[in-house]
Amino acid sequence: MHTIDMDLVEMTLDVMKYTIDRISNVTPEMGAPKREEDLFRIVGQTITPEGIGGEAAFQLFRDVLVKATVPIDHPRHLAFVPAAPTRAAIMFDLVTSASSIHGAYWMEGAGGIFCENQAMKWLVSLTGLPQDSFGVFTSGGTAANLSALVTAREEWRSRNTENEDLKALLITSSGAHSSIKAMAKVMDAEVMLADCDDEHLTGLELQEAVNKLSKQDRKRLFAVVATGGTTNAGIIDELDTIADVCGKENIWLHVDCAYGGGALAALSVRHLFNGIERADSITIDPHKWLFSPYDCGAVIYKDMELAKNAHSQKGAYLEIFKDEGAHGFNPADYQIQLTRRVRGMPLWFSLAMHGTNKYRKAIERGIELAKIAEKKVKEDEHFELVRPSSLSVVLFKRKGWTPEMYRDWTYKNHREGFALVTPTIWNGETVVRFCFINPDTTEKDIDMILDTLK
Ligand SMILES: *Cc1c(COP(=O)(O)O)cnc(C)c1O
Repeated sequence: MHTIDMDLVEMTLDVMKYTIDRISNVTPEMGAPKREEDLFRIVGQTITPEGIGGEAAFQLFRDVLVKATVPIDHPRHLAFVPAAPTRAAIMFDLVTSASSIHGAYWMEGAGGIFCENQAMKWLVSLTGLPQDSFGVFTSGGTAANLSALVTAREEWRSRNTENEDLKALLITSSGAHSSIKAMAKVMDAEVMLADCDDEHLTGLELQEAVNKLSKQDRKRLFAVVATGGTTNAGIIDELDTIADVCGKENIWLHVDCAYGGGALAALSVRHLFNGIERADSITIDPHKWLFSPYDCGAVIYKDMELAKNAHSQKGAYLEIFKDEGAHGFNPADYQIQLTRRVRGMPLWFSLAMHGTNKYRKAIERGIELAKIAEKKVKEDEHFELVRPSSLSVVLFKRKGWTPEMYRDWTYKNHREGFALVTPTIWNGETVVRFCFINPDTTEKDIDMILDTLK
């Protein structure tokens, strides 16, 4: 496979040229999905006994298949949570693959894991967690949440033997991300939603929810999941008072900052996260607001030993990797995955190249763009602001529109290759949602999108 033939040379040049063109293009063509049968009609069968050749396969990707994807870094992609990986991080993603590093154990991955850990140190420093707190990169927020919650349950089970037989229960709020429920299902744990207004949980509301539990349910309560920036509206729970309750009740506090975590670096809003330094575990997704390519999440623990107790895998063929000769940090011990890409390396390289100040500035820009959009919405009679912008999210109504009109508007903008902006539901009503990540989104982009709503 490693003999140099011309097809390999051509393929390599094609890939490098495409990659350079793509990351130099700040407004990539806005692709759209096609039906599978339509794609098949154009592309045909690509996997054959003899292979179709690198040039042909790459051409199909470049000319057909990639056009059936949406570039999530497009400056007018404000739907869901967009992304805007830095060029440095993308280029280093290629280097990460090219280097073929196994990221589970220090024995094989030391140099790469060292890079990850330098980036992780910065992330941990943003949280204000005590010294010795640390973390590990995961495939995303879902895997980070699962890793943290499994650790929490393990710690709770170890407290007394009775807990080993109880079905674990966690409390969160309506603003929590869908992955919390999904991962509770994976764990066969139960989720209870505390009553709160507008996706915003306070310590008082949490205390009420705890007080309402039956004696048996109180025994089953193993964790509270607060959100540091709801995905829908950018709202941060009242972490300080929530931490008070968790401390007093002796319950594990997990703070899910998958989307909002980048804003820990933004001094203008950092105070909104006060209390996060008392969490037992935190999720941050560098592939959301820290400009890393997919996929890169992170889970951070106050006490790494507890994570190790929960996740360290034992196996005859693994023990050799953990002998004294290779002592060092083993990422496999702290999250659910064994073999892993050293997926924090692109973030490390980009942070090392640009410095943390540039990151802070780029994140502040997302917050500023939301404020700019908010102001424009307020000044225009067609619109009604639903609530003040929060982090980089702004929600507003187009007066007089029905849910169908919002949907048609989304599809029209997408079909025309102009923008991808989607509505959401707020208090039972369909509203427009802008979520800013890309610092290259301009005020003019916002104006042009608002014009499509008139
Ligand atoms: C996006 C998100 C998740 C899920 O993260 P993935 O990286 O998509 O797995 C979890 N929690 C919150 C708050 C999120 O915004």
